[in-house]
Amino acid sequence: MIPVRMLYHLRDFRSSAIRKACVVYWKPIKNIVQQKTNDGHLNFVFRLSSFALITMTTTERHLNIYDLSLPALAALLNDWGQPAFRARQIWRQLYVNLVRSPQEMTDLPMALRERLAAELTFGVLELETMQQADGGMTRKALWRLPNGPVLESVLMIYPGRATACVSTQAGCAMGCVFCATGRMGLLRNITPGEIVEQALWAAREARTSALSPQPLALGNYADDDRWASDDTPSPQPLLPSPTRLSNLVFMGMGEPFANYDRWWQSVERLHDPQGLNMGARSLTVSTVGLVPGIQRLAEEKLPINLAISLHSPDDTLRSEMMPVNKKYPIAALLAAARQYVAKTNRRVSFEYVLLQGKNDSPEQAARLGELLRGMLCHVNLIPWNPVPGAPLHRSHGERIRAFQRVLQDAGVACTVRQERGVAIAAACGQLAGAQVAPTLAEIALV
Ligand code: SF4
Repeated sequence: MIPVRMLYHLRDFRSSAIRKACVVYWKPIKNIVQQKTNDGHLNFVFRLSSFALITMTTTERHLNIYDLSLPALAALLNDWGQPAFRARQIWRQLYVNLVRSPQEMTDLPMALRERLAAELTFGVLELETMQQADGGMTRKALWRLPNGPVLESVLMIYPGRATACVSTQAGCAMGCVFCATGRMGLLRNITPGEIVEQALWAAREARTSALSPQPLALGNYADDDRWASDDTPSPQPLLPSPTRLSNLVFMGMGEPFANYDRWWQSVERLHDPQGLNMGARSLTVSTVGLVPGIQRLAEEKLPINLAISLHSPDDTLRSEMMPVNKKYPIAALLAAARQYVAKTNRRVSFEYVLLQGKNDSPEQAARLGELLRGMLCHVNLIPWNPVPGAPLHRSHGERIRAFQRVLQDAGVACTVRQERGVAIAAACGQLAGAQVAPTLAEIALV
């Protein structure tokens, strides 16, 4: 029996009304049921009598196991008196076998499984909705984070491979006018574990797709993805779906360099040869053009790919489209890109969303060619994925091809990104935006 008076003095109760209830029910407690909520809080149900119940929820969440590095997990298990090899055993279960709960870790002693379940949270992302397009080969998940924000991840499955696009922030502070996420503002930075969880979801989905391949019409998907350099879509025969997540791009909601430390921890986790083992060259980060982030990335040991959103060859228009340009104008951005290439000897990709009558003229293509001439780079032209309510228009196919020809004639490697998931609003932030900001009518290009 625990006197309620003692509990009243415990801190971290979410509701002061519960504290008051403790005072009102100044009675001994008959039993306590402890439950863990989906977002990692502890929920206590106190029975005071046959009729009276009090529920309390702690505001402190349990540690998300996906936020732990391998050394941190090893240290925790050491504190628990476990042998050193247990950490690697659990790591393998999480990142190789892709299990989602300690109950599935059947190579662990039952007592350890129970302790893991009681003291750690195995993931905090709650699947709100999942949509499919392209015969099931494009899948988009909307997640709800603890405390309410939402974010998105997309998986695109191709013959023999799969690419995931994950978010690095909930919302985004950068305010690009053509982007649904920019409309939301920044809701919060997300943790390394919350980034890694998205990748693990994609890896599980890709693996499952191999077990139940979906029939696809010939040519329903191209041997290209939204981030690949091959621009020639070609009909593909039906092939077995991949069993492994082969590429991952940080191009979902948010600006990765605005959440650099947490994002980079997730990169190291995904790359870990003892875990998901994604090669550095199969990881791509996309930035709106934060120069300090580009400089920092150039110093990193892991040679992941860099993509920079450019979208205009002149500062006036780019500043209208992307407010970040006022802080890091094109000259500063391209100088940082050149330094990055000089330091790493790696090719930079420039992303260019084409908007009819705004940034898609042959003159603008020629100007872009001049800016990029001689740089080890590649331009990825992106037909705009319409955002409902936005008074913008995607460029026509002929205009896109003309833009591409001008760039290629200027000696700049240039491809057109193939589209996926238009039917499920697969562009960044569209699904989440429907939850956070139902109308995008205010979005306008001056
Ligand atoms: S395009 Fe990227 S950086 Fe710009 S608002 Fe959208 S998510 Fe943020």
